[in-house]
Amino acid sequence: MAALEKKILSDSKRIVIKVGSALIRSNDKNLINEIILNRIVKEIINLNEAGKEILLVSSGALALGKKSLTFKKNNLKVSEKQAASSVGQVLLINAWKKAFLKYKKQCGQILLTHLDAEIRSSAINARNTIETLLKLNSIPIINENDSVATQELRYGDNDQLAARVAQITSSNLLIILSDVDGLYTSNPKKSSNALLLKYIKRITKSIEKQAENTSSSITVGGMKTKIKAAKIALAAGCNMIITRGNKLRPISSIVQKANFSLFLTNTSPRTARKKWISSQMKIKGNITIDKGAEEALKNGASLLPAGIISVSGSFYKGDIINVLSKKKRIVCVGITAYPAKDAKIIAGAKSNAIENLLGYHSRDVIIHRDDMVLKN
Ligand code: GLU
Repeated sequence: MAALEKKILSDSKRIVIKVGSALIRSNDKNLINEIILNRIVKEIINLNEAGKEILLVSSGALALGKKSLTFKKNNLKVSEKQAASSVGQVLLINAWKKAFLKYKKQCGQILLTHLDAEIRSSAINARNTIETLLKLNSIPIINENDSVATQELRYGDNDQLAARVAQITSSNLLIILSDVDGLYTSNPKKSSNALLLKYIKRITKSIEKQAENTSSSITVGGMKTKIKAAKIALAAGCNMIITRGNKLRPISSIVQKANFSLFLTNTSPRTARKKWISSQMKIKGNITIDKGAEEALKNGASLLPAGIISVSGSFYKGDIINVLSKKKRIVCVGITAYPAKDAKIIAGAKSNAIENLLGYHSRDVIIHRDDMVLKN
Protein backbone atom coordinates (compact mmCIF):
# COMPACT_ATOMS: atom_id res chain seq x y z
CA MET A 1 0.00 0.00 0.00
CA ALA A 2 2.92 2.38 0.55
CA ALA A 3 2.80 3.46 -3.07
CA LEU A 4 -0.86 4.46 -2.80
CA GLU A 5 -0.39 7.66 -0.80
CA LYS A 6 2.52 8.55 -3.04
CA LYS A 7 0.36 8.14 -6.14
CA ILE A 8 -2.49 10.11 -4.61
CA LEU A 9 -0.21 12.99 -3.69
CA SER A 10 1.48 13.03 -7.06
CA ASP A 11 -1.79 12.73 -9.03
CA SER A 12 -3.54 15.49 -7.08
CA LYS A 13 -3.36 18.73 -9.01
CA ARG A 14 -5.48 20.82 -6.64
CA ILE A 15 -5.07 20.32 -2.89
CA VAL A 16 -6.89 21.91 0.06
CA ILE A 17 -4.82 22.01 3.25
CA LYS A 18 -6.73 22.61 6.47
CA VAL A 19 -4.79 23.76 9.50
CA GLY A 20 -6.43 23.36 12.91
CA SER A 21 -6.48 25.90 15.74
CA ALA A 22 -4.35 23.67 17.98
CA LEU A 23 -1.44 24.08 15.53
CA ILE A 24 -1.78 27.83 15.16
CA ARG A 25 -2.05 28.94 18.75
CA SER A 26 1.12 28.83 20.76
CA ASN A 27 1.06 27.08 24.11
CA ASP A 28 3.58 29.45 25.65
CA LYS A 29 3.54 33.21 26.14
CA ASN A 30 3.68 33.79 22.40
CA LEU A 31 0.40 34.15 20.61
CA ILE A 32 1.16 32.26 17.42
CA ASN A 33 3.19 29.12 16.84
CA GLU A 34 5.37 30.59 14.11
CA ILE A 35 7.56 27.50 13.92
CA ILE A 36 4.64 25.38 12.81
CA LEU A 37 3.33 28.04 10.45
CA ASN A 38 6.72 28.42 8.79
CA ARG A 39 7.07 24.67 8.31
CA ILE A 40 3.64 24.40 6.71
CA VAL A 41 4.38 27.36 4.43
CA LYS A 42 7.63 25.71 3.31
CA GLU A 43 5.73 22.56 2.40
CA ILE A 44 3.16 24.60 0.46
CA ILE A 45 5.91 26.38 -1.46
CA ASN A 46 7.45 23.01 -2.38
CA LEU A 47 4.07 21.70 -3.53
CA ASN A 48 3.58 24.86 -5.63
CA GLU A 49 6.97 24.31 -7.18
CA ALA A 50 5.91 20.77 -8.04
CA GLY A 51 3.05 22.31 -10.05
CA LYS A 52 0.25 21.88 -7.52
CA GLU A 53 -2.43 24.42 -6.72
CA ILE A 54 -2.82 24.87 -2.98
CA LEU A 55 -5.76 26.32 -1.08
CA LEU A 56 -5.35 26.89 2.61
CA VAL A 57 -8.22 26.68 5.08
CA SER A 58 -6.95 28.07 8.35
CA SER A 59 -8.67 27.97 11.72
CA GLY A 60 -7.33 29.86 14.67
CA ALA A 61 -9.23 33.15 14.66
CA LEU A 62 -11.18 32.41 17.82
CA ALA A 63 -8.26 30.81 19.66
CA LEU A 64 -5.96 33.76 18.84
CA GLY A 65 -8.64 36.36 19.58
CA LYS A 66 -9.41 34.79 22.96
CA LYS A 67 -5.76 34.72 23.91
CA SER A 68 -5.05 38.20 22.63
CA LEU A 69 -8.06 39.73 24.42
CA THR A 70 -7.03 37.73 27.52
CA PHE A 71 -10.46 36.27 28.11
CA LYS A 72 -10.22 34.25 31.29
CA LYS A 73 -13.60 32.50 31.23
CA ASN A 74 -14.32 29.60 28.93
CA ASN A 75 -18.04 29.96 28.37
CA LEU A 76 -18.07 33.06 26.18
CA LYS A 77 -21.31 34.43 24.80
CA VAL A 78 -21.79 34.06 21.05
CA SER A 79 -21.23 37.81 20.56
CA GLU A 80 -18.00 37.64 22.60
CA LYS A 81 -16.78 34.70 20.51
CA GLN A 82 -17.63 36.54 17.31
CA ALA A 83 -15.83 39.65 18.53
CA ALA A 84 -12.82 37.56 19.59
CA SER A 85 -12.77 35.94 16.15
CA SER A 86 -12.77 39.28 14.39
CA VAL A 87 -9.71 40.30 16.43
CA GLY A 88 -8.07 36.90 15.92
CA GLN A 89 -8.68 36.81 12.16
CA VAL A 90 -6.52 39.93 11.69
CA LEU A 91 -3.71 38.31 13.69
CA LEU A 92 -4.13 35.03 11.85
CA ILE A 93 -4.00 36.43 8.34
CA ASN A 94 -1.06 38.65 9.24
CA ALA A 95 0.86 35.66 10.54
CA TRP A 96 0.30 33.74 7.28
CA LYS A 97 1.11 36.83 5.23
CA LYS A 98 4.41 37.27 7.06
CA ALA A 99 5.32 33.61 6.57
CA PHE A 100 4.47 33.59 2.83
CA LEU A 101 6.19 36.89 2.10
CA LYS A 102 9.54 35.26 2.90
CA TYR A 103 8.98 33.40 -0.37
CA LYS A 104 7.56 36.49 -2.09
CA LYS A 105 4.16 34.81 -2.21
CA GLN A 106 1.01 36.86 -1.86
CA CYS A 107 -2.06 35.53 -0.16
CA GLY A 108 -5.71 36.48 -0.42
CA GLN A 109 -8.20 36.21 2.42
CA ILE A 110 -11.61 34.64 1.77
CA LEU A 111 -14.18 34.46 4.56
CA LEU A 112 -17.10 32.14 3.86
CA THR A 113 -20.15 31.00 5.75
CA HIS A 114 -21.44 27.44 5.40
CA LEU A 115 -24.38 28.92 3.56
CA ASP A 116 -22.08 30.46 0.94
CA ALA A 117 -20.88 26.99 0.07
CA GLU A 118 -24.45 25.75 -0.26
CA ILE A 119 -25.96 28.62 -2.25
CA ARG A 120 -24.80 27.94 -5.77
CA SER A 121 -24.46 31.56 -6.89
CA SER A 122 -22.16 32.33 -3.92
CA ALA A 123 -20.30 29.07 -4.40
CA ILE A 124 -19.66 29.92 -8.06
CA ASN A 125 -18.32 33.34 -7.08
CA ALA A 126 -16.11 31.81 -4.40
CA ARG A 127 -14.77 29.28 -6.90
CA ASN A 128 -14.08 32.00 -9.48
CA THR A 129 -12.25 34.16 -6.94
CA ILE A 130 -10.20 31.21 -5.72
CA GLU A 131 -9.32 30.15 -9.28
CA THR A 132 -8.34 33.71 -10.16
CA LEU A 133 -6.07 33.90 -7.10
CA LEU A 134 -4.48 30.59 -8.13
CA LYS A 135 -3.89 31.89 -11.66
CA LEU A 136 -2.25 34.95 -10.10
CA ASN A 137 0.10 32.56 -8.29
CA SER A 138 -1.29 33.57 -4.91
CA ILE A 139 -2.47 31.46 -1.99
CA PRO A 140 -6.18 31.64 -1.14
CA ILE A 141 -6.52 31.54 2.66
CA ILE A 142 -10.03 30.65 3.72
CA ASN A 143 -11.76 30.70 7.09
CA GLU A 144 -15.34 30.79 8.21
CA ASN A 145 -16.73 34.32 8.41
CA ASP A 146 -17.12 33.81 12.15
CA SER A 147 -18.27 37.32 13.03
CA VAL A 148 -21.38 37.08 10.81
CA ALA A 149 -22.05 33.34 10.98
CA THR A 150 -25.56 32.78 12.31
CA GLN A 151 -24.84 29.44 13.90
CA GLU A 152 -23.12 29.06 17.23
CA LEU A 153 -19.38 29.23 16.56
CA ARG A 154 -17.78 25.86 17.15
CA TYR A 155 -14.33 24.42 16.75
CA GLY A 156 -14.39 21.67 14.19
CA ASP A 157 -16.68 23.50 11.80
CA ASN A 158 -13.74 24.26 9.59
CA ASP A 159 -13.21 20.56 8.85
CA GLN A 160 -16.54 20.56 7.07
CA LEU A 161 -15.97 24.00 5.60
CA ALA A 162 -12.68 22.72 4.14
CA ALA A 163 -14.52 19.74 2.62
CA ARG A 164 -17.10 22.10 1.11
CA VAL A 165 -14.29 24.24 -0.30
CA ALA A 166 -12.76 21.08 -1.80
CA GLN A 167 -16.15 20.26 -3.30
CA ILE A 168 -16.87 23.65 -4.86
CA THR A 169 -13.35 23.93 -6.27
CA SER A 170 -13.27 20.32 -7.58
CA SER A 171 -10.12 19.65 -5.58
CA ASN A 172 -8.47 16.23 -5.72
CA LEU A 173 -7.19 16.00 -2.18
CA LEU A 174 -8.00 17.47 1.23
CA ILE A 175 -5.25 17.27 3.85
CA ILE A 176 -6.38 17.96 7.41
CA LEU A 177 -3.41 18.92 9.56
CA SER A 178 -4.39 18.21 13.12
CA ASP A 179 -2.89 17.56 16.55
CA VAL A 180 -3.48 13.82 16.16
CA ASP A 181 -2.00 11.25 13.75
CA GLY A 182 -5.31 10.18 12.29
CA LEU A 183 -8.33 8.07 13.13
CA TYR A 184 -7.83 5.41 15.79
CA THR A 185 -10.05 2.49 16.73
CA SER A 186 -10.30 4.01 20.21
CA ASN A 187 -8.87 7.01 22.03
CA PRO A 188 -5.05 6.55 21.86
CA LYS A 189 -4.61 8.77 24.93
CA LYS A 190 -6.71 6.40 27.00
CA SER A 191 -6.06 2.98 25.49
CA SER A 192 -2.77 1.37 24.51
CA ASN A 193 -4.70 -1.01 22.23
CA ALA A 194 -5.81 1.85 19.99
CA LEU A 195 -4.99 1.13 16.35
CA LEU A 196 -4.50 3.75 13.68
CA LEU A 197 -6.76 3.18 10.68
CA LYS A 198 -4.54 3.93 7.71
CA TYR A 199 -6.62 3.30 4.61
CA ILE A 200 -10.37 3.85 4.74
CA LYS A 201 -12.42 2.95 1.69
CA ARG A 202 -15.84 3.27 3.24
CA ILE A 203 -17.13 5.18 6.24
CA THR A 204 -18.93 2.48 8.13
CA LYS A 205 -21.18 2.80 11.18
CA SER A 206 -18.37 1.44 13.37
CA ILE A 207 -15.96 4.09 12.08
CA GLU A 208 -18.50 6.76 12.92
CA LYS A 209 -18.85 5.28 16.38
CA GLN A 210 -15.09 5.23 16.93
CA ALA A 211 -14.94 8.91 16.00
CA GLU A 212 -17.56 9.82 18.62
CA ASN A 213 -15.16 9.06 21.43
CA THR A 214 -12.29 11.29 20.45
CA SER A 215 -11.54 14.86 21.37
CA SER A 216 -8.66 17.11 22.23
CA SER A 217 -8.40 20.23 24.31
CA ILE A 218 -8.51 22.76 21.51
CA THR A 219 -10.09 20.85 18.65
CA VAL A 220 -13.24 20.08 20.58
CA GLY A 221 -14.73 18.68 17.41
CA GLY A 222 -12.21 15.83 17.58
CA MET A 223 -12.70 13.16 14.95
CA LYS A 224 -16.46 13.47 14.66
CA THR A 225 -16.30 16.57 12.49
CA LYS A 226 -13.49 15.05 10.46
CA ILE A 227 -15.64 12.06 9.58
CA LYS A 228 -18.43 14.42 8.51
CA ALA A 229 -15.86 16.24 6.40
CA ALA A 230 -14.65 12.96 4.89
CA LYS A 231 -18.19 12.12 3.82
CA ILE A 232 -18.53 15.44 1.98
CA ALA A 233 -15.08 15.15 0.40
CA LEU A 234 -15.42 11.54 -0.74
CA ALA A 235 -18.85 12.18 -2.29
CA ALA A 236 -17.25 15.07 -4.19
CA GLY A 237 -14.53 12.82 -5.62
CA CYS A 238 -11.84 14.18 -3.31
CA ASN A 239 -9.52 11.94 -1.27
CA MET A 240 -8.85 13.03 2.30
CA ILE A 241 -5.87 12.61 4.61
CA ILE A 242 -5.73 13.35 8.34
CA THR A 243 -2.24 13.69 9.78
CA ARG A 244 -0.41 15.45 12.57
CA GLY A 245 0.69 18.94 11.60
CA ASN A 246 3.25 19.65 14.31
CA LYS A 247 6.24 17.95 12.73
CA LEU A 248 9.10 19.10 10.55
CA ARG A 249 7.61 18.10 7.20
CA PRO A 250 3.94 17.41 7.88
CA ILE A 251 3.00 16.86 4.24
CA SER A 252 6.05 15.37 2.52
CA SER A 253 6.42 12.92 5.42
CA ILE A 254 3.12 11.34 4.34
CA VAL A 255 5.01 9.50 1.60
CA GLN A 256 7.79 8.60 4.01
CA LYS A 257 5.77 6.24 6.17
CA ALA A 258 4.47 8.85 8.58
CA ASN A 259 1.28 8.09 10.46
CA PHE A 260 -1.90 9.21 8.78
CA SER A 261 -5.42 8.13 7.87
CA LEU A 262 -6.24 8.17 4.18
CA PHE A 263 -9.90 8.19 3.14
CA LEU A 264 -10.25 7.00 -0.45
CA THR A 265 -12.92 8.21 -2.85
CA ASN A 266 -14.25 5.96 -5.58
CA THR A 267 -15.06 8.76 -7.98
CA SER A 268 -13.48 11.88 -9.49
CA PRO A 269 -14.47 15.52 -8.86
CA ARG A 270 -15.67 15.79 -12.47
CA THR A 271 -17.86 12.67 -12.33
CA ALA A 272 -19.22 13.64 -8.91
CA ARG A 273 -20.15 17.11 -10.15
CA LYS A 274 -21.88 15.73 -13.25
CA LYS A 275 -23.76 13.16 -11.19
CA TRP A 276 -24.92 15.91 -8.87
CA ILE A 277 -26.08 18.07 -11.81
CA SER A 278 -28.03 15.13 -13.27
CA SER A 279 -29.71 14.50 -9.93
CA GLN A 280 -31.12 18.03 -9.67
CA MET A 281 -34.89 18.05 -9.99
CA LYS A 282 -35.58 21.77 -10.07
CA ILE A 283 -35.06 22.97 -13.62
CA LYS A 284 -35.54 26.72 -13.53
CA GLY A 285 -35.62 27.58 -17.24
CA ASN A 286 -34.72 26.82 -20.83
CA ILE A 287 -32.24 28.14 -23.34
CA THR A 288 -32.78 27.26 -26.99
CA ILE A 289 -29.67 27.09 -29.16
CA ASP A 290 -28.85 26.96 -32.88
CA LYS A 291 -27.52 23.96 -34.79
CA GLY A 292 -23.91 25.15 -34.65
CA ALA A 293 -23.96 25.46 -30.85
CA GLU A 294 -25.66 22.06 -30.57
CA GLU A 295 -22.84 20.44 -32.56
CA ALA A 296 -20.23 22.29 -30.49
CA LEU A 297 -21.76 21.08 -27.20
CA LYS A 298 -21.83 17.50 -28.46
CA ASN A 299 -18.13 17.84 -29.24
CA GLY A 300 -17.38 18.89 -25.67
CA ALA A 301 -17.48 22.70 -25.93
CA SER A 302 -19.02 25.14 -23.44
CA LEU A 303 -22.18 27.10 -24.29
CA LEU A 304 -21.39 30.59 -25.56
CA PRO A 305 -23.99 33.37 -25.78
CA ALA A 306 -23.49 33.51 -29.56
CA GLY A 307 -25.34 30.22 -30.06
CA ILE A 308 -28.47 31.21 -28.11
CA ILE A 309 -31.73 31.75 -29.96
CA SER A 310 -34.09 32.30 -27.04
CA VAL A 311 -34.33 32.21 -23.24
CA SER A 312 -37.37 31.31 -21.14
CA GLY A 313 -38.16 30.90 -17.44
CA SER A 314 -36.93 32.93 -14.51
CA PHE A 315 -33.61 31.64 -13.32
CA TYR A 316 -30.66 33.10 -11.46
CA LYS A 317 -26.93 32.58 -11.76
CA GLY A 318 -26.16 29.11 -10.38
CA ASP A 319 -29.56 27.61 -11.23
CA ILE A 320 -29.97 24.42 -13.23
CA ILE A 321 -31.47 24.91 -16.69
CA ASN A 322 -32.19 22.83 -19.79
CA VAL A 323 -30.54 23.60 -23.09
CA LEU A 324 -32.86 22.80 -26.01
CA SER A 325 -32.28 22.27 -29.70
CA LYS A 326 -34.34 24.20 -32.29
CA LYS A 327 -36.59 21.12 -32.40
CA LYS A 328 -37.08 21.49 -28.60
CA ARG A 329 -35.13 18.35 -27.74
CA ILE A 330 -33.03 18.52 -24.52
CA VAL A 331 -29.38 18.71 -25.55
CA CYS A 332 -27.98 19.12 -22.06
CA VAL A 333 -28.72 20.24 -18.54
CA GLY A 334 -26.33 22.57 -16.78
CA ILE A 335 -25.54 25.32 -14.27
CA THR A 336 -26.00 28.78 -15.73
CA ALA A 337 -23.40 31.47 -15.12
CA TYR A 338 -25.90 34.26 -15.96
CA PRO A 339 -29.45 35.00 -14.77
CA ALA A 340 -32.33 34.77 -17.28
CA LYS A 341 -32.72 38.55 -17.59
CA ASP A 342 -29.06 38.95 -18.61
CA ALA A 343 -28.98 35.78 -20.74
CA LYS A 344 -31.80 37.35 -22.82
CA ILE A 345 -29.72 40.50 -23.38
CA ILE A 346 -26.55 38.67 -24.46
CA ALA A 347 -28.33 35.97 -26.50
CA GLY A 348 -26.75 35.80 -29.96
CA ALA A 349 -23.89 38.15 -29.02
CA LYS A 350 -20.15 37.54 -29.08
CA SER A 351 -18.56 36.95 -25.66
CA ASN A 352 -16.43 40.08 -26.00
CA ALA A 353 -19.62 42.16 -26.17
CA ILE A 354 -20.90 40.95 -22.75
CA GLU A 355 -19.31 43.79 -20.80
CA ASN A 356 -20.84 46.44 -23.09
CA LEU A 357 -24.26 44.85 -23.07
CA LEU A 358 -24.53 44.13 -19.34
CA GLY A 359 -22.12 46.55 -17.75
CA TYR A 360 -20.28 43.59 -16.21
CA HIS A 361 -18.57 40.42 -17.43
CA SER A 362 -18.89 37.31 -15.32
CA ARG A 363 -17.71 34.58 -17.68
CA ASP A 364 -17.26 34.17 -21.46
CA VAL A 365 -19.61 31.21 -21.36
CA ILE A 366 -23.23 30.80 -20.28
CA ILE A 367 -22.65 27.19 -19.22
CA HIS A 368 -19.13 25.86 -18.78
CA ARG A 369 -18.54 22.36 -20.14
CA ASP A 370 -17.66 21.11 -16.64
CA ASP A 371 -21.04 22.37 -15.45
CA MET A 372 -23.18 20.47 -17.98
CA VAL A 373 -24.37 16.96 -18.62
CA LEU A 374 -25.22 16.00 -22.21
CA LYS A 375 -28.42 14.05 -22.87
CA ASN A 376 -28.57 11.46 -25.64
N1 GLU B 1 -13.42 29.36 12.36
C1 GLU B 1 -12.93 29.11 13.68
C2 GLU B 1 -11.68 29.91 13.94
O1 GLU B 1 -11.00 30.34 13.05
C3 GLU B 1 -12.54 27.71 13.96
C4 GLU B 1 -13.40 26.61 13.56
C5 GLU B 1 -12.65 25.31 13.72
O2 GLU B 1 -11.67 25.22 14.47
O3 GLU B 1 -13.04 24.36 13.08
O4 GLU B 1 -11.33 30.07 15.08
